[in-house]
Amino acid sequence: MNSEFLFIISRVLILFRISITVWTVMALTLYNTLGRSLQIFEPLKTGRVGFYGCGPTVYNYAHIGNLRAYVTHDILTRTLRRLGYEVTHVMNITDVGHLSGDNDEGEDKMVRSAEERGKSVLEIADFYTRAFFNDTGRMNILKPTVVCKAIEHVGEMIELIKRIEAKGYTYSAGGNIYFDVGKFPRYGDLALLRLDELKAGARVGADENKRNPQDFVLWFTRSKFENQALVWDSPWGRGYPGWHIECSAMSIKYLGEQFDIHAGGVDHVPIHHTNEIAQSEAATGKHPWVKYWVHNEFLVLDKGKMSKSSGGFITLQSLADSGYDPLDYRYFLLGGHYRSQLQFSWESLEGARNARRSLLEQIRRLAGNAGGDRADIRAKAANGAGVSPCSEKARKYLAAFDKALEEDLSTPRALAELWGIVRDGELSPGEALAGALDMDRVLGLSLAESLDKTGTEKAGDPALAEEVEKLIARRGEAKKVKNYAEADSIRQSLKDRGVVLEDTPSGTVWRLL
Ligand code: AMP
Ligand code: ZN
Repeated sequence: MNSEFLFIISRVLILFRISITVWTVMALTLYNTLGRSLQIFEPLKTGRVGFYGCGPTVYNYAHIGNLRAYVTHDILTRTLRRLGYEVTHVMNITDVGHLSGDNDEGEDKMVRSAEERGKSVLEIADFYTRAFFNDTGRMNILKPTVVCKAIEHVGEMIELIKRIEAKGYTYSAGGNIYFDVGKFPRYGDLALLRLDELKAGARVGADENKRNPQDFVLWFTRSKFENQALVWDSPWGRGYPGWHIECSAMSIKYLGEQFDIHAGGVDHVPIHHTNEIAQSEAATGKHPWVKYWVHNEFLVLDKGKMSKSSGGFITLQSLADSGYDPLDYRYFLLGGHYRSQLQFSWESLEGARNARRSLLEQIRRLAGNAGGDRADIRAKAANGAGVSPCSEKARKYLAAFDKALEEDLSTPRALAELWGIVRDGELSPGEALAGALDMDRVLGLSLAESLDKTGTEKAGDPALAEEVEKLIARRGEAKKVKNYAEADSIRQSLKDRGVVLEDTPSGTVWRLL
């Protein structure tokens, strides 16, 4: 064989391999706020993703709007892992420096909360951090790879401010150190802001130390908060950091000076994230600091915006107190695309609860009919291993499911594929169940776990168990005398309360959904 022939063969093989790879490797598309377009996700390092999601300010419980942000981060992380990436997900805990206005106005949220409750700032932070992870755990939101508290990273913040200062982007006024946005020409890129227009519309009465209304505090020393509970020594005097610097300092510490994805709610676009970009790129001189910016839209009430500081907000516990499972709320959120506003109402939550209950019922039915397969499928799902159904039809559902997530995390379409696979009577119960559990590795509805729990275990309430047993006996009597209307009505009334009856050869058993 001559060398020309070998060269041609090798090119053909390379082309063949490329086309196979393009065909088989799944491509994730994300909507990037920076550039306002759908973009194919390409990580900075092959196979790895650095992801930073702004965490909670722990001066109160998270409201259900906040939890929408964390479910979005969770779906993003789980999708990236499903696509085979090794994801480092970093979340900060804001326990210092966040004022009631994002633009350095108002009171310190932590200090005010501590005063109102007669506790120290640290006690407040500790209590609400625990409450936060309790809520996220109940919603099956995976714990981030790194959780970092602002209070423990003030040293890193001071070092970063020093770098920004050395590059000439800061000025000192009224005892505070400010970032001068006028020196950073890309300032408005993320939020599509024009500084000249903003200057013209600036409000009277804002911080008079600022050269531009958008300048922001990096370090407070003498300021309006003379009685600040926590202060640190710094080259600029004893004081405390502004809010935005913590996210730059901690993300750079854990993910490096440039990383892949940064996420938060849409309210963070014009101030918090815009300021994060300015100070990070000013310090490192590297652009872009973050490649993809992912922002979730708001959960709104019929009366308007839900806000933690307004006091009138709904928590996960208030949903639980009204009889809803935290996973009903997760299901409700998955029904909306993260980039669309979602209106919360008790009626729609009720709809989500009913849908999730019938989904669990289908899962149990499949498990009941899957015979010997079930234990194997369940064991694989518990190990986090993918369980792949074998028929072409089942694989099609999974492919459509993946495609939905790859197209900017479309959870409503992904949920539709889950329903498709569990309801398709042409699939064997084993493969339908395997497919559903596989999908649930991203959706996180705890479908596999629901198979493990018997009614009594889950109820944990002997009074309920006793009542159910009595009703089952009454239903048995009704059936004996062929009073099927009453038997059905007992079954239905139990179902409405989340108790499902299954008639087996050895009698009627019940489970809680
Ligand atoms: P915070 O604890 O106030 O710092 O907010 C935590 C996260 O919740 C941030 O990413 C916010 O952008 C997001 N967020 C706040 N309110 C809502 C809402 N009503 N709907 C969705 N996300 C929200
Ligand atoms: Zn942040």
